[in-house]
Amino acid sequence: MTTISENLQGIHQRIRHACATAGRDPSGVTLLAVSKSWPVPALAEAAVCGQRAFGESYVQEGLIKINALASLGLEWHFIGPIQSNKTRLIAENFAWVHSVDRFKIAERLSAQRPPHLPPLQICLQVNVSGEKSKAGCLPEEAAPLCHALLQLPHLTLRGLMTIPEPTEDVLRQRLQFARLRECRDRINTEIMDRPLDTLSMGMSHDLDAAILEGATLVRIGTAIFGTRTRMVTKPAPHDET
Ligand SMILES: *Cc1c(COP(=O)(O)O)cnc(C)c1O
Repeated sequence: MTTISENLQGIHQRIRHACATAGRDPSGVTLLAVSKSWPVPALAEAAVCGQRAFGESYVQEGLIKINALASLGLEWHFIGPIQSNKTRLIAENFAWVHSVDRFKIAERLSAQRPPHLPPLQICLQVNVSGEKSKAGCLPEEAAPLCHALLQLPHLTLRGLMTIPEPTEDVLRQRLQFARLRECRDRINTEIMDRPLDTLSMGMSHDLDAAILEGATLVRIGTAIFGTRTRMVTKPAPHDET
C-alpha cells in the first residue's frame, strides 16, 4: 500500500514533469490537497510532509478539521457548492473560496467576512463543458460577474475555477481547460489594473492537461489520499440545515 507521503511525492513529480513539458516553472503551480471525506489523521499526515493548502467541499466537515488542526497554520480552501445559509461560516473560517458562481453569494461572503481577517480570496466557477447539471456561470457571464465581484470590499478576486466534463481523452481535457484560460485572458484585457492570476483547474486524472493549459492551482484528492468510499457528491444530511 502506498502512503500519503509517497503519493504526495508522486504528485509533485507529475507536476514537475507537466511543467517541464509546458516550459513552465513548477513554482507557478500550487498543490491543493482535497481532503473531503478523509479524517483528521490523514490530513495531519499530509501536513507533516509539508502540504499547506487543503480543500474541503462541505462546511461542517471542514470546520471539524480546521479546528482540530488549528495549531498547524494550514490554509483552508472551500471548493464545494455554496448554500446561502452557509456563507457566514465559510467567510469566517476559510482563506479561499473556489466555487463562487453568482453575485448574491459573493455579496454575502464579502459582508460576512470578519474585518480582522485578510480579504477572502475568490475564484469564479465557470462551466466550460456546457453540461446543464453543472455548477458554474456560463463563459459569457464570467466577464460581467468579475467586474461586479471586483467591487466587493472584503473579497479579492484571484481568478477562475472549473470542473470540466470528465473524460480520459487528453485532447478533450485540454480543450476544456483552454476555454477557461481564454476566458481569463479576455477578462484580463479589460481589468488591467488587477489582473486575475489564478486558474484553479486539474484534478487527479487530468492535472497534466490542466498544467499544459496554464493551471496555477491543481485540486488533488484521490491521487493523494486514495479512493473516497463515502458518497461525497451530495451534501451529508447534517450539512443541509
Ligand atoms: C473532489 C474534488 C476534487 C478532487 O478530485 P480527485 O479526482 O479526487 O482528485 C477537486 N475539485 C473539486 C471541486 C472537488 O469536489
